[in-house]
Amino acid sequence: MFQKILIANRGEIALRVLRAAKELGIKTVAVHSTADADAMHVRLADESVCIGPPPSRESYLNIHQIVAACEITGADAIHPGYGFLSENAKFAEILAAHKITFIGPSAEHIRVMGDKIEAKKTVARLGIPVVPGSDGAVTDDDTAQRVAEEIGYPVLIKAASGGGGRGMKIARSRDQLAEALSTARAEAGAAFGDDAVYIEKYLAKPRHIEIQVVGDGAGRAIHLGERDCSLQRRHQKIWEEAPSPALNEAERARIGGTVARAIADLGYAGAGTVEFLYENGEFYFIEMNTRLQVEHPVTEAITGIDLVHEQIRVAAGSGLSLRQEDVRFNGHAIECRINAEDPRTFVPSPGTITHFHTPGGLGVRVDSGVYSGYRIPPYYDSLIGKLIVHGRNRVDCMMRLRRALDEFVVDGINSTLPLFRDLVGNPDVANGDYDIHWLENYLADSG
Ligand code: ADP
Repeated sequence: MFQKILIANRGEIALRVLRAAKELGIKTVAVHSTADADAMHVRLADESVCIGPPPSRESYLNIHQIVAACEITGADAIHPGYGFLSENAKFAEILAAHKITFIGPSAEHIRVMGDKIEAKKTVARLGIPVVPGSDGAVTDDDTAQRVAEEIGYPVLIKAASGGGGRGMKIARSRDQLAEALSTARAEAGAAFGDDAVYIEKYLAKPRHIEIQVVGDGAGRAIHLGERDCSLQRRHQKIWEEAPSPALNEAERARIGGTVARAIADLGYAGAGTVEFLYENGEFYFIEMNTRLQVEHPVTEAITGIDLVHEQIRVAAGSGLSLRQEDVRFNGHAIECRINAEDPRTFVPSPGTITHFHTPGGLGVRVDSGVYSGYRIPPYYDSLIGKLIVHGRNRVDCMMRLRRALDEFVVDGINSTLPLFRDLVGNPDVANGDYDIHWLENYLADSG
């Protein structure tokens, strides 16, 4: 097992990883920018190293500084959290060259899944159902037109290197296609430095359902069920739950089994998420994330399995701590992402949190790195914390969530708490009756 892990991240996820390492008796090293010198992850770690000025590219994305911090402190492994360097294949390779273990999959798997066209081809070969669309990148208008006619309008043009819900354009008919294609290419080139785009059938009313997997890198993998992340704003998740209100046990076992087999065949190591759109009883792969996800706690709540422990175990060569038949699903969990944003316009609201009080009690978990008097720096994402609530069933969970949201206090800045208080009382949400467009429609209607 590792002696010391460096956590190449900040905020709640740095704390999350730190807690798991401590439980396993492993020493921790925090890294931070000058803007984060007072941050909670720095205070709770055994050691900390300042790696640069506030902008991420000079600190949390600065590979050279992070490797140096690792060598100075003698850390033998790095956990990347999510975001920042977590899906950077080059980073994984550089660490390997320095004999530092990257707590995550191989550089090759990160690279394949980071290219959405390659990812789709790879998983299709492994027997995972994908969204109908072009076989690869589409460069000319004629091919685009042929593909679009074949799959039928509307179609979605997506960036091969896209992420964070950006770089997508809809073409509803033939006369919109050429323009959508050229705008998508230009935007992808500017945003991701890669103008390759591909075409997919645009699904009208899907749910976003993703499967959590963990592989041991030696041909064994298990699935930990699904998360429903359909409540989204601008393709970004804000509310996630497990299990999905839309799936039954047989469907769960079928898609989970298919994905776990594929991931085992791939020889994948560590935690990963295979994301699908789900419509009319069918699953369509959209992408795989080769890291821990923001919403992983809902899976932990219903399985009782610590995903970061499993990541660390696999990276250290100890293998998975359990088999598929040991995985049991218990009750229902919901996560709300509490952001420092205006609850209607979602405009970021950095500043000082004058008063911060988190809810507690049975079945309530808050993952957050902030405290009363904490000043949210303007340089990073706007996540203040995640509220995760577990109940014996969905009704129980919703009752508890309503109570926990009432107890939660964030003063001094705007937060998205009021939005969640509205949502928890909404009949559609209460019935689990929503798709990926529901929230945008709700905001437009109630705005
Ligand atoms: P990103 O990497 O930017 O998150 P994804 O491929 O995961 O991109 O898609 C993000 C979101 O965009 C999905 O959750 C869904 O809301 C929407 N989306 C993606 N592909 C389609 C599609 N073919 N039809 C309809 N909506 C889609």
